[in-house]
Amino acid sequence: MDLLNTLVDKGLRRELPTRDEALAVLATSDDDLLDVVTAAGKVRRQWFGRRVKLNYLVNLKSGLCPEDCSYCSQRLGSTAGILKYTWLKPHEAAAAATAGVAGGAKRVCLVASGRGPTDRDVDRVSRTIEAIKEENEGIEVCACLGLLSAGQADRLREAGADAYNHNLNTSEATYGGITTTHTYADRVDTVQQAQAAGLSACSGLIAGMGESDADLVDVVFALRELDPDSVPVNFLIPFEGTPLAEEWNLTPQRALRILAMVRFVCPDVEVRLAGGREVHLRSLQPLALHLVNSIFLGDYLTSEGQAGQADLDMIADAGFEVEGAGTVTLPQHRADVAHAGGGCGSHEAGGGCGSQNEDAGCGSHADGGGCGPCGGAAQGAPEPVAEPAGAPDQEPVPAGAARTGLVAVRRRGAGTDLPPNA
Ligand code: SF4
Repeated sequence: MDLLNTLVDKGLRRELPTRDEALAVLATSDDDLLDVVTAAGKVRRQWFGRRVKLNYLVNLKSGLCPEDCSYCSQRLGSTAGILKYTWLKPHEAAAAATAGVAGGAKRVCLVASGRGPTDRDVDRVSRTIEAIKEENEGIEVCACLGLLSAGQADRLREAGADAYNHNLNTSEATYGGITTTHTYADRVDTVQQAQAAGLSACSGLIAGMGESDADLVDVVFALRELDPDSVPVNFLIPFEGTPLAEEWNLTPQRALRILAMVRFVCPDVEVRLAGGREVHLRSLQPLALHLVNSIFLGDYLTSEGQAGQADLDMIADAGFEVEGAGTVTLPQHRADVAHAGGGCGSHEAGGGCGSQNEDAGCGSHADGGGCGPCGGAAQGAPEPVAEPAGAPDQEPVPAGAARTGLVAVRRRGAGTDLPPNA
């Protein structure tokens, strides 16, 4: 297909596709799906080989948020039966982080619900970062605390944070329909504050909220312009008890096309498969490894993922390898710039460049469910994620049907007495 040949050539040169080319990827048929994955896989392997970076979420503070992000189980008015707790103590967060590192994670993502941190919160998170780094030499720490005020990014950087996550989530044109308590411009400003402080910026999107193909292309092009180092791609987890509970819009094929489009537009950036992967990709998760070079290990902020061991088995079975702590994730040309204090890879004056930037931390935070990669579900949801294979007396579920049975509220790990999933 000419389109795919063109996109591969551009991806290998870090050249921006046109909007029409990006839209055409989203419009490809299921018959062409494997060709699309193969093409975007060439670009992925050029910049990241067969490595998969594992990231581990620690939800420092869960629920009770005054903001109204429609996708989020932690939002104002949410009746989702998620865990609700206030700030974990540094040693509690460090214990959760250490479990993730033992499971293979090389980045720990510290996420807290809320509009943004107070200076006291920044002090608290700073102590947490120090505790994690003391126990886990060489580990990367990303903070995801919402909208930043002046000077807070610098303080997090001084405390040892490596990265900051704040997602754009959706296009500027549709942002007001998703959230009313802050603006798209607020989000852009926080990402830029993080970059200015020398933090590696992480900013991504949530797909499946009822947006159009044009909206998806808009937000991905906006991300490329913003030039983060990592781009988490969340797939909405429609939590019961939130305004988007009925938005079951994604099929596994659609999710793969979205990931391929992001890879073509952001070829040399850490593209992270974030919240919603188990719910929406289901048995096609391994194909996504040909497109992304980064995933979350184990559970999300407010929902449970598949077992950490299942993540590791999937990576090995698909012929990929977990990226080691001593390996630099980004290609050399981007890593050099990042280490020079610029944050991401190619900030020429005015932004632009080549590409950008998991998990999305906070939708303000990341993963399909609100902040970080929440991913959460309604109270009383049944045990997660794996469907019974081939039960003979069950009818197949139509591809685009609601899969509420695949959504399970997190009941283990941070904020509970049960061990984390890692
Ligand atoms: S995404 Fe973050 S800011 Fe928005 S409602 Fe959820 S916790 Fe609050």
